[in-house]
Amino acid sequence: MVIATPVTCLQCEDALCVMMCPTEALSRRDTDGTVIADPGRCIGCRTCVEVCPIGAPAVDPRLGTSQKCALCDGDPACVKVCGERALTFAGAEEESLYRRRAAVETYVEHQAFTAQTGGSSRGAGSPA
Ligand code: SF4
Ligand code: SF4
Repeated sequence: MVIATPVTCLQCEDALCVMMCPTEALSRRDTDGTVIADPGRCIGCRTCVEVCPIGAPAVDPRLGTSQKCALCDGDPACVKVCGERALTFAGAEEESLYRRRAAVETYVEHQAFTAQTGGSSRGAGSPA
């Protein structure tokens, strides 16, 4: 059985993927703050995959480059096709986005704490 679930990029204010990318293939678009990938610069090293706290980016095995959500220029296709209306698009100004970012920060802090204390954090505090 295959279980598919969307993992949507939160367009983090202090995006670890942007900070850690060795080739500056990831950047924040000036116009709307969306974190975007430049396939021409990407070397497929998977650093962005490893550092993203929610596992949003993926490296396409055929192309060898990072693929990440760029919000379809403000009109996400996933939202349009979701028959159950489980997805909504929240603009950067909306409170819900900040709540989700806070959840990710809490998750990252929890992971760091359990790493320091040697405890198991599998699944605990994971953002929804
Ligand atoms: S890919 Fe991950 S770290 Fe980068 S902006 Fe999106 S959620 Fe944040
Ligand atoms: S896979 Fe590409 S975008 Fe991701 S960190 Fe490596 S070079 Fe940057």
